Amino acid sequence: MAEKKWITIVHFIIWLLIVPPGMIYLLANQMPDEINVSYLILFVIFGVLTVLFPIKLNGEPVTLVMWVTLPAFLMYGLAVELVVMQLAIVATLFAVKSKVNIFQRFFFNSIMLFILSVVSALAFYVVGGKIGSMEFWYVLMSAAVFRLIYTTTNIGLLKTYFQMRGLKNPLTIKDIAYEYASIILILPLALTFYFLLNLVGISSFLLLGFPFFVTITIIRLYGRSEKVNDSIKRAGEIGSELSVLTDDKYVTEQFIKKSTELFNANFAFLFKNHNNWLELEKAYEKNNFVTREFGSIQPGEGIAGKVLVSNESVIYTKRKDWLQNATVFAPDDLESILCIPLIHNNKTNGILLLGSNRRSAFKDYQLKILDLLGSYYIVSLEKARYVQEALLKSERCALTKLYNYRYLEERLHYEMNRMQKGDIQDLSVVMLDIDHFKKVNDTYGHQSGNDILYSLARILEEQLPDYGTVGRYGGEEFVYIMPDFTKQEAVDFANRLRLLIRQHAFSITSDLSMDKQSIDVFITSSVGVANAPTDTDEAMALLRNADRALYIGAKQAGRDRVAEYVK
Ligand code: GH3
Ligand code: MG
Ligand code: MG
Repeated sequence: MAEKKWITIVHFIIWLLIVPPGMIYLLANQMPDEINVSYLILFVIFGVLTVLFPIKLNGEPVTLVMWVTLPAFLMYGLAVELVVMQLAIVATLFAVKSKVNIFQRFFFNSIMLFILSVVSALAFYVVGGKIGSMEFWYVLMSAAVFRLIYTTTNIGLLKTYFQMRGLKNPLTIKDIAYEYASIILILPLALTFYFLLNLVGISSFLLLGFPFFVTITIIRLYGRSEKVNDSIKRAGEIGSELSVLTDDKYVTEQFIKKSTELFNANFAFLFKNHNNWLELEKAYEKNNFVTREFGSIQPGEGIAGKVLVSNESVIYTKRKDWLQNATVFAPDDLESILCIPLIHNNKTNGILLLGSNRRSAFKDYQLKILDLLGSYYIVSLEKARYVQEALLKSERCALTKLYNYRYLEERLHYEMNRMQKGDIQDLSVVMLDIDHFKKVNDTYGHQSGNDILYSLARILEEQLPDYGTVGRYGGEEFVYIMPDFTKQEAVDFANRLRLLIRQHAFSITSDLSMDKQSIDVFITSSVGVANAPTDTDEAMALLRNADRALYIGAKQAGRDRVAEYVK
């Protein structure tokens, strides 16, 4: 903040040193003896209008104002041209939306245009240009020099300015090409204007102004439809980008980021519909996801709540229009709003609200495009969830959510491969089976058995060492795959685990007893341990070895113990 102030102050000082003294000097010494005040007023009005309705080529506004300022110069000289130009700048400040501070922009543009006019006028005089001349070829030649020097100096000054401030030069080669190309349009127009003014007088403003502004309007309308087309195209691209994502949280984040970017919004709030209450799921402010304390919103409450009830998208262009509908959560500098329902299968899953701190930041057509994006989002979200679920089903066991035997076997082959390549030195397998689990089922019911399996799975997960994998290998059999665990380390781990399990109280509600009271159940387990390369160097053999150790070494030896495989 402080730095920005400084930059403005530096701009102001340079402006103060150059523009006001320069203007005073020129007004005192270069003013023509006779000025047609109506011309002057019309020049200013035309200049301001031209600046207020800029046309864009290649996305950049093109400087057309010279079709007015050049005739003013050719007629009355530098002082009048400067007056018209400086007044037009003030209009630019309001016409062009920018993040840069309005004072800094004024000082910068004022200095630039002052220097440009003075330099171009000098070049004009050097090549023998005369104010008020009616000799066509002379006027054409000197005016062309004026404009060429103007454009070239402009590009050079901008380049120097951005270099000095260490900023990226926003002018591309294409922009520069357009800037020069616009001379072909501006120069004949300005000269026609100048000669016509001298020949037929004030009606020239009507004769040329009318076709000029009509043409500008048509070009602007065309530019707008191009903008609409571009946005639709971009929305389509965002749609296909979203559709390939498989993580639902990521889909949501990308949807918010990309739609915020597309519409140049400063705020995005995504609400989730929870049984007809809206809860804030994500808040994105000034390019960051933030946490905001937000209570739930009722249907009809606030802008999002109203959209939930009506199921209709809304657009607001200024704060005054929505303030009486707002909830207390609205940010202080929020002005323009786009708000859409996110509908899937006739159900509103959520609400998206995009906001800007500028007035009239959004256009009606953007609301339609946001609706389109919203439907892409919902479809992509559904798809991501479906894919995730399918993946979970194929790799995980539905009851315990641990990896299933298919995944465990794949993983075991992978780790064995790594050991054979020398990436790891050891690979141990720990296989655990609950003792007399049939009895647990018989006593407390199958459902209680399931609950115990689920709770045990959580314990096993908690104990999982780094880089290890744990899964459910069968009914009540679990397997750890432990890379870089020696046999002894694996046996020690297994013993700690066994003790932890036997002292854990599994709280269940027996579905066989009448009074649905919760009971503490204790279980013991038998564990078998095998290791590669000690016992084998083949993946499935390692599993078989652990299984043998479990049944012969632990179960048959009396249960509730750990056994290691012996050849
Ligand atoms: P031990 O291992 O000590 O020899 O005795 P056990 O009673 O545990 O016998 P075994 O391991 O051979 O039998 C496994 C039993 O575990 C069979 C079945 O009743 C129970 N079981 C297996 N899968 C499930 C399941 O998904 N849910 C429930 N509730 N029980 C299961
Ligand atoms: Mg068992
Ligand atoms: Mg078993």
